[in-house]
Amino acid sequence: MGILEVKDVGKRFGGLQALSNVNLSVKENSVHAIIGPNGAGKSTLLNCFVGKLIPDTGSVLFEGQSLLGRKPHEINQMGVSRVFQTPEIFGDLSVMENMLIPCFAKRDGSFELNAYGSVASQRDVQDRAEQMLIDMNMIDKREEHAAALSRGDKRRLEIGMCLAQEPRLLLLDEPTAGMARADTNNTIDLLKEISDTRDITIAIIEHDMHVVFSLAQRITVLAQGTPLVEDTPDNIKGHPKVREAYLGE
Ligand code: ADP
Ligand code: MG
Repeated sequence: MGILEVKDVGKRFGGLQALSNVNLSVKENSVHAIIGPNGAGKSTLLNCFVGKLIPDTGSVLFEGQSLLGRKPHEINQMGVSRVFQTPEIFGDLSVMENMLIPCFAKRDGSFELNAYGSVASQRDVQDRAEQMLIDMNMIDKREEHAAALSRGDKRRLEIGMCLAQEPRLLLLDEPTAGMARADTNNTIDLLKEISDTRDITIAIIEHDMHVVFSLAQRITVLAQGTPLVEDTPDNIKGHPKVREAYLGE
């Protein structure tokens, strides 16, 4: 059984059947990509994993526990972190201040409580944030305004902020959208390193085939709300149905 098990998920928006009969199994510690044309239902599916949408039918299990009906913050506390299409960082704060936020929140699940925490435990949080910035190769930028970072570095910071919560499943929705090639390659390298060095599973929605083929061990192709095929990157590349539906051949 996979770390994430999706069975017969369906979701309708008014007259539009956005998802139907979606079955998907994400293997623990793998990188699994979900690809498909615009409007295929990729973001809708991801939203069903993180509590932003509740499917009309089917089930979504994370480590054997149902995610359906749970609030986004509960799902987050269960070990699922999500990176959004637009980086969610605080532009007015420094890189270090941004990293302190998830490190505080991780300590006891409540940010407010921590303002009154002891000096010693604040030291812990500081150390964790510093270590995370070292791991992310961003320690030199600790005092920089987050808003002034390059697109790639904003993404790097955001991914680091997710990792500070120590998730077991990291979900990414088009993390390289709108990036220049150099930033995209940076992001690929970062995700590779994370996957190789941490006990983590990555599920990534991605439009850029270079990213997908650089990272994924399994690929699910979604077309018109339903999986067309799930296979290894090599088999996906040559699959006639995929070429027709996705690559436009
Ligand atoms: P993708 O991420 O693959 O591009 P989406 O999941 O965003 O596709 O959208 C799938 C389909 O569902 C699209 O036709 C989109 O217009 C529609 N859709 C997505 N979200 C909503 C919503 N909240 N209300 C109505 N229709 C939606
Ligand atoms: Mg989308």
